[in-house]
This record gives sequence, structure tokens and C-alpha cells, in this order.
Amino acid sequence: MNKKTLKDINVKDQTVLVRVDFNVPMEGETITDDGRIVAALETINYLIDQGSKVVLFAHMGRVKEKADKAKNDLAPVAKRLGELLDQEVAFSPVTRGQELEEAIKALKGGDVLLVQNTRYEDIDGNKESGNDAELGKYWASLGDVFVNDAFGTAHRAHASNVGIASHLDSAVGFLIQKELEVIGGAIDHPKRPLIVILGGAKVSDKIGAIENLLPKADKVIVGGGMAYTFLKAQGLEVGKSLLEEDQIDFAKKVMEEADDKLVLPVDVVVADDFSNDANTQVVAIDAIPADWEGLDCGPATVKRFEEVLDGAKTVIWNGPMGVSEMPAFAHGTIGVATATAKLEDATTIVGGGDSAAAVKELGFEEDFTHISTGGGASLTYLEGSPLPGIDAIADK
Ligand code: ADP
Ligand code: MG
Repeated sequence: MNKKTLKDINVKDQTVLVRVDFNVPMEGETITDDGRIVAALETINYLIDQGSKVVLFAHMGRVKEKADKAKNDLAPVAKRLGELLDQEVAFSPVTRGQELEEAIKALKGGDVLLVQNTRYEDIDGNKESGNDAELGKYWASLGDVFVNDAFGTAHRAHASNVGIASHLDSAVGFLIQKELEVIGGAIDHPKRPLIVILGGAKVSDKIGAIENLLPKADKVIVGGGMAYTFLKAQGLEVGKSLLEEDQIDFAKKVMEEADDKLVLPVDVVVADDFSNDANTQVVAIDAIPADWEGLDCGPATVKRFEEVLDGAKTVIWNGPMGVSEMPAFAHGTIGVATATAKLEDATTIVGGGDSAAAVKELGFEEDFTHISTGGGASLTYLEGSPLPGIDAIADK
């Protein structure tokens, strides 16, 4: 990796501005999952140990009007971070001005301050999300160096990542470093065989990932809702299953280029309703009834996918194999997760918001080498597309 990492820059006794991903789910003022805060601790603790004055920038939710402010207030996050660090975390309730500037001046080496939700700046002219030049410059003026450790927003050019980075010496934090090393390593020089698993809802969301990964992979397993467009492209009837008519030609092209690399379902679980309580049956892919929709892979498909995964040394997985939010249609996803979890001596990666959530929810969190912390960012990375938040960081 050619980007500077935390250990490549001088942070000792410096005021270090850090972009972190604290976009945690909230119920009222209660954080229901503090995983993202925990994930940032390694970088923050390193800076504390170096005697840095740590100034954290983070966003929460979307803030388009004043009414969005209260529910996206970061004050509870500062409190939780303080508990996790076992030290007081100062909080600036504003994103600019005297109160913020004085709070930063008051910091001593090893102190930590969290700045209010950067997207409060979106109310008046989309300044954060639109990467307003003046805002990025102002925030940069508050510190000596910049560290980006928010992988979740790395695919966006915002004032709090790209804006600040363009004015200061900078580095990626430990979390982004791991994302780039593990995912980048698996794509660029995988131990083979490399098996790519693609699923989820739509082919159209995954075009870039298919085009980038198909030539590199030894096999590409296709499941989930997107499989039906491929089946239709083979001339099969898919009933009421998810189908993107306008992607059929793309699917045909992929199948031609793929030769025998592509592994498609051989049977599916169809339902008479999009609901966990629907009536279901397992049918072969050439026998999908006209009034039913495919919501999961069938058992013969799971077996076929298991065979393909057997012996894999690298697995990159994006997209659930069925409507895994509903237990009735989670068997394909569980099957693939189990087969991947069993692999010995393999690098196994899950990228994608819903896939990562599914794998955790189904209890496989500890069984994978890496579950990406960035949904959209990991998909962008799998596409081989630029990540502005990382491109903006100084080269080594
Ligand atoms: P990720 O966020 O991991 O990239 P996607 O957003 O592409 O994944 O897809 C996740 C969604 O795909 C889930 O909401 C899931 O219900 C849906 N899905 C998976 N299989 C099917 C299917 N057969 N029919 C309809 N929706 C499906
Ligand atoms: Mg998704």
C-alpha cells in the first residue's frame, strides 16, 4: 500500500485531527451497537499513548434540516467513548467557532475531544457532504496532522475527509489500513483458489464488482435476488422473482466471458408471498411456478456451493444468498457462511452492508478473517473504483 499509515507520520505531542466512523445505531439516546466505536479504539489509544491531542470528527445519519439535529447528536457517543477509553472525553456541541476552538486549545497531551456531527454543516448549504472548500480549510486549521480512519465514508468526498486531508500531512488509521491490506491483498495477490461469492438484491448494484472480480477469480458463485436475471438470461422462467429486464444483456455477456467460472443456483426456495410466513416449496430452477418468487437457494444449490468452496484459499463475499433477514429464507446464507467458516488456512472476507450484518446476525462474526466496516465503501473497493477519502491521503 502506497498511502502513509499512522506509523509513518509524526503525531507525538501534535494536535491530531482524526476522522472516525461513529455512525452507530441509536434508540433515543441509547447506542444499540457500539461496534464502530470499539473498532476505532486502536487508533485512538495509539494517539493517546503518543501524547497527541486527539480531535475526533464523525458523522451520524443524515442532517438536512434542523429537526434532524436532535436525533443525530453525538453527545451520547462521547460518553460511551469515555467509558471505553476509561478517561474523560470532551465534547464540542458545535462544529465551528469559538467554543470549539477554545475546547481544542484546552486539550493537553493524551486528551480526547469529539466534535459534534459533521453533517450539522449540511443544513445550511450541504457544506460537509458537498466538500465545501472553506469548511475543509477551516477544520484543517484546527490541527497539525490528519488521520482518516473512517472506512465507511471513504467512497465519498466530504469536507471532513477529503477537505481536511488536502491541507495537512496525513495518514490512514489502523482500521483503514487493515481494510486496504486485507481486501486489497485478496483482490491483487490472492492465495488460490480465489472464490468470489456475489448475492444480494440487484445485478445493477454489482456490475462493477462483477467486471472487476470475474477475471481475477477462479470461480464466481452467484446467489440471492440477482441470480434470477442470470437464469432468465439462460432462457429460464423466474416467476415473480426479482428480475432486472434491463440487465439481461449484461448477464448474457458475463456468462459468455465467464466460461465455466460462473456457478449459478440449481434449485430455489419459492414462496407465494414476500413474508416469513409464506407457503414455500423447493423447486428446480427450470420449474419456478409463474405465481411464486424465489427467496432463497435450495438445498442442492447449497451443496453445489459447498463443493465449489471446498479447498478455497481466499473467499470474497458480497451479498446475501437469499432474503436472510427472514429466518425462513436464511438457509442459503447460513450454508455458505458455514462452508466458508470451515475453511482452513484461508483468507475469508465479507464486504457489503447487508452481508456483513447478516453474517454477524447469524453468529459467524468470529469465523471470518475480516468483516468490512464499510458497506458502500467495500463494494466500491471491490469494483476497483477510486475511494476519494483514501486517495486524498498523502503517499508514502
Ligand atoms: P450488500 O448490502 O451486502 O451489498 P445488497 O444490498 O446487494 O447486499 O442486498 C441485500 C438485500 O438483498 C437484502 O435486503 C435481501 O433481502 C435481498 N435479497 C437477497 N436475496 C433476495 C431474493 N431472492 N429476492 C429478493 N431480495 C433478495
Ligand atoms: Mg445493501
